[in-house]
Amino acid sequence: MFWTKTFIPTLRDDPADAELVSHKLLTRGGYIRKLTSGVYNYLPLMQRTIHKVSQIVREEMDASGAVEITMPVLHPAEIWQKTGRYETAGKEQMRLKDRHERMMVLGATHEEVVTTMAAGELRSYRQVPLNLYQIQVKFRDEIRPRFGLMRGREFIMKDAYSFDVDEEGLKVAYRKMAEAYFKAFKRCGLEVKMVESDVGVMGGFAAHEFMVPVTTAGGEEVILSCNSCDYTANVEKAQSVPRMDEKPREEEKKQMEMMITPDMRSIEEVTEYLRKPAEKLVKTIIYMADGEPVAALIRGDREINEVKLKNHLRCLELEMAEPETIIKLTGANVGFSGPVGLTGARIVADHEIRSMFNFVVGANKDDTHIINVNLDNFSVDDWVEIRNAEAGEICPRCAKGYLEAFSGIEVGNLFMLGTKYSESLGALFTDEKGEEKPFVMGSYGIGITRTAQAAVEAYHDEKGIVWPKTIAPYDFHIVPLSWNSEKQRDIVEDLTGKLEAEGFSILIDDRDERPGVKFNDSDLIGMPVRIAIGDRGLKEGVIEVLTRHDMKMEKVPVEKAAEMAIEAWKAL
Ligand code: ATP
Ligand code: MG
Repeated sequence: MFWTKTFIPTLRDDPADAELVSHKLLTRGGYIRKLTSGVYNYLPLMQRTIHKVSQIVREEMDASGAVEITMPVLHPAEIWQKTGRYETAGKEQMRLKDRHERMMVLGATHEEVVTTMAAGELRSYRQVPLNLYQIQVKFRDEIRPRFGLMRGREFIMKDAYSFDVDEEGLKVAYRKMAEAYFKAFKRCGLEVKMVESDVGVMGGFAAHEFMVPVTTAGGEEVILSCNSCDYTANVEKAQSVPRMDEKPREEEKKQMEMMITPDMRSIEEVTEYLRKPAEKLVKTIIYMADGEPVAALIRGDREINEVKLKNHLRCLELEMAEPETIIKLTGANVGFSGPVGLTGARIVADHEIRSMFNFVVGANKDDTHIINVNLDNFSVDDWVEIRNAEAGEICPRCAKGYLEAFSGIEVGNLFMLGTKYSESLGALFTDEKGEEKPFVMGSYGIGITRTAQAAVEAYHDEKGIVWPKTIAPYDFHIVPLSWNSEKQRDIVEDLTGKLEAEGFSILIDDRDERPGVKFNDSDLIGMPVRIAIGDRGLKEGVIEVLTRHDMKMEKVPVEKAAEMAIEAWKAL
């Protein structure tokens, strides 16, 4: 492909709204262009990479025994109402009305559609196991669309849905998907970790995420991993087992005492003012759970885990209470809430507080805290784990190793759904004994566009993108320094012929630009191997072969150039 015949609008400057290096590079490299928030054009180079990622995923899905279909993007709202997700999906769901004023939904995922189809078509245990997948656009009205293709409102996903007669069957399907995912991501050049995750709104009973670990700001998820066994979980899910040496020592209970803490609201302010360490404080955070007030208590130096709290409360919506609600409930402004004398809210406390003595809490009175509070000074409705596990804690699985934290990008996930969807949508089969039962289902997603961008987040340098060779838009980038030179053009033609004959794809920079511009653009767009042809080299009968990842350049004889370039590509 000639540069002038395709469309690669490279830019000199970073886009103003880009925070992530991958977002900047894809925009500057002429791969993507934003239409509106979270909605992007995929330009020719991006299109080729998306195609390659999709094809790898497709091949591994096919190899696993799954079969490809295409389901509609446009769904009637009724099927979502039947499973109850019309409500739980809430504002993230894109909705519209048709000309008959019927509510329609743009697909964010396809459990409802595939299960409705199964309800109509599958009858017998003989028709399964069956795993149906598609690669298709999805719509989600994300609260914070950001990071380019990472969190879009329109994006491409591979989604698969398995149907089995029992849990054993589901486990087999699940394992097959996990294996296919490892293979697919590896072929895309990505190292991934399979991580235990929370089942969330999918409402199943087991779930895993596939994460690309990154050291850049691109890692939206925090993952905890044991340094001794294979326990790996995301922070939403990871269980916390505090170290024994961190448990507060038993103390003699002292008398409660009110302390004036003028305008001291934050943990830092209060600890400094009262000269108490944060682990001697108990934070009280007021939430509204489906409209009911809940006071969540955790140790001052810990982070609350809203997923664990929400799972415990089994509520649909969990939000921090508004300042007015807090005043009404506690009688004080935000920052001075506490459990002592608090009525009108369910009090949910983190386990860790059980072993605390003489701690500090808000007094439910402006500018006031209480010191030397003990457990007999208030009552707790529920004791649960509602805090984040942290690096350095003991592994909840092997109890020997310690947890280490790293950040990652979620590129795929697996859910054991069970019978939630088959029951609500009536996807039933008759078993060998003639009994009618709901199918046992799993669902499995890969973010195709997010995976493509995650590769850039994982592989780049200060000059630009460094594509893994399997998903680069082109295998070779040929850069003749002057397209006016007939000799250079002849060599390009000869090289291209030889490389294409071996099945490689080639981008040729036929622009009338200065060499510096061509090289900068070439570094930026990041094809794995570059072949540069200039008059000076040709005088000595050589051209330059450069591997992008290490920027190593070799001068090779013109007649051996194709062969040596292929060798360099193969060695990557
Ligand atoms: P997240 O926690 O990042 O919001 P999710 O749990 O909502 O992801 P799923 O509904 O399971 O994700 O979707 C399957 C895959 O689709 C994810 O693993 C991710 O790779 C991709 N994905 C999800 N949301 C987006 C989005 N807004 N933009 C791009 N890709 C996405
Ligand atoms: Mg999401």
